[in-house]
Amino acid sequence: MGSREVTTASDWQGMNITVAGLGVSGISAARALAGLGASVTVVDGGSSEAHREKAAALEEHGISVRLADAETLPEGTDLVVTSPGWKPGSPLFLAAAEAGVDVVGDVEIAWRLRGPDAAPWLAVTGTNGKTTTTQMLASILGAAGLRTAAVGNIGTPIIDVVQESDEAYRDLDVLAVELSSYQLHWAPSVRPHSAVVLNLAPDHLDWHGSMEAYAADKGRVYEGNRVACVYNVADKATEDLVRGADVEEGCRAVGFTLGTPGPSQLGVVDGILVDRAFVEDRHKKAQELAEIADVHPPAPHNIANALAAAALARAFGVPAAAVRDGLRAFRPDAHRIQHVADVDGVAYIDDSKATNTHAAEASLAAYESIVWIAGGLAKGATFDELVAKSAKRLRGVVLFGADRALIREALARHAPEVPVVDLDRTDTGAMLAAVREATRLARAGDTVLMAPACASMDMFANYNQRGDLFAEAVRELGAASA
Ligand code: ADP
Repeated sequence: MGSREVTTASDWQGMNITVAGLGVSGISAARALAGLGASVTVVDGGSSEAHREKAAALEEHGISVRLADAETLPEGTDLVVTSPGWKPGSPLFLAAAEAGVDVVGDVEIAWRLRGPDAAPWLAVTGTNGKTTTTQMLASILGAAGLRTAAVGNIGTPIIDVVQESDEAYRDLDVLAVELSSYQLHWAPSVRPHSAVVLNLAPDHLDWHGSMEAYAADKGRVYEGNRVACVYNVADKATEDLVRGADVEEGCRAVGFTLGTPGPSQLGVVDGILVDRAFVEDRHKKAQELAEIADVHPPAPHNIANALAAAALARAFGVPAAAVRDGLRAFRPDAHRIQHVADVDGVAYIDDSKATNTHAAEASLAAYESIVWIAGGLAKGATFDELVAKSAKRLRGVVLFGADRALIREALARHAPEVPVVDLDRTDTGAMLAAVREATRLARAGDTVLMAPACASMDMFANYNQRGDLFAEAVRELGAASA
């Protein structure tokens, strides 16, 4: 690293720190660093009423805020702390590079603020499944009687957790940490106890610049691992990242697979999740962990998430029974393959969180006969592979959203016989129409799956609203048919 590397709390005294972004993580970083005696300036390009209110609250704590200019580097800056969403090429960072000033993110700050006896990190990254896996992991660790929290890209800002801002974060034994590719990009010295890259598919390439750069940022999660680098046997790119990582002596590569596991792998045998990595004689023995029915929902990609979570927990020494209990107790957050209702023998599933093709592919693989509701903002994605792989499961398709033509064209190429209703709409009310059309196409035994493979912002405030409106429409319809 360049300029000044800070590792102990007292080193922050008198440092001039510029925090980029007045969001949740920026505010958390600014307050923590000011609390340690640093001189903090938060910069943000906005200047709305909401910005001014947040600025006033920070100024009360002696933090300077500069609104309506996110581009120039404040005079005398020693370190820039960025919020995850800011792109590497942002003018502020170019100015920092020119001035020889480091740019790091909130996760890096959290790592540097940890005390000497701080809880080790079990880290989870990947294109899809991060939140689910991290929460499953925390559930398993909790079932083992460990004091833990699911943090990082979820919930409470990680700096607050590390600083034990709340009773719930005191004296933790271990942290389950979800890390996005952005956070990893800006966290050069983080060294997890063990980590997993769940899968790698093109996403956020506009931010990272290329697939190689995206993969390299994800791969950072393995750097300095002490016990296990967990990879996905079905996704060779994740294994390659393990190979390229610089780990501690004795750290093992551990694979997870939906098939029969080899030595040093976790996998599935006759409906049972088994461990052939963290057992005494892994060449001859396997340890039963849980049944597929213990995983909710028991869709294939979610079994993979469960195996990844189990691998990290086992790397931390958790007994097999706690893996089972933790998985049994776990329910995913809303809008992730959430069963909304059954109406006239048709199941309605909200997978609004499927905001890219890789996620949609996973949920389309989980059902036999599907009426698929899709469309929105494609973020530069193509749909040929997704449609070709899923064609045989499609009873019909209902499309809405700005980039729906891309999906319609892929359907014409790879599934010409599947009926498609193109709603030609990008307004919020299109959801009700979509559910109505999907119901018309569905037969008893089918699944109506809203897994749009696209971002939601062209039509909805976010994926939560998209999912809520889907559920509302299904209820309205159910009431009408009852
Ligand atoms: P993330 O935090 O990485 O966005 P989530 O756990 O919130 O991941 O799940 C996001 C979406 O990705 C879900 O809607 C689900 O359909 C899909 N998904 C979850 N796990 C996987 C997986 N292992 N592989 C592919 N898709 C997945």
